[in-house]
Amino acid sequence: MRCARWRWVPLALAREAREKSAAPYIDGAVQCQLSAHDEGEHFGLLTDNGAYGTALWLRWRGADEPELVVLSDCPVAAPGRDGDGCCLFADHAKQHTWEDTHEEAPCTS
Ligand SMILES: [Zn+2]
Ligand SMILES: [Zn+2]
Repeated sequence: MRCARWRWVPLALAREAREKSAAPYIDGAVQCQLSAHDEGEHFGLLTDNGAYGTALWLRWRGADEPELVVLSDCPVAAPGRDGDGCCLFADHAKQHTWEDTHEEAPCTS
């Protein structure tokens, strides 16, 4: 199961994300991309339109102000031929997205 937390993206951070990535559009709200978890930081994908092998993420914890962070893509793909890539970032907590059997959806971008 995907973490169900959503967060509004502050306008200033959306603007900064567009400037950093040249993405034409940043969603007004993002859902945490990790597998369901109760504690720790949540990570919503803003855009993977930035430098190769990286993506811009919104990181937040509880009711604290969210932060914009640039993270390297998770390099671990599912085993086997045509294994799916992981949609998360390097050294993330929890499962790789392809380990989450509840969801077949491709990475959002
Ligand atoms: Zn979360
Ligand atoms: Zn991963």
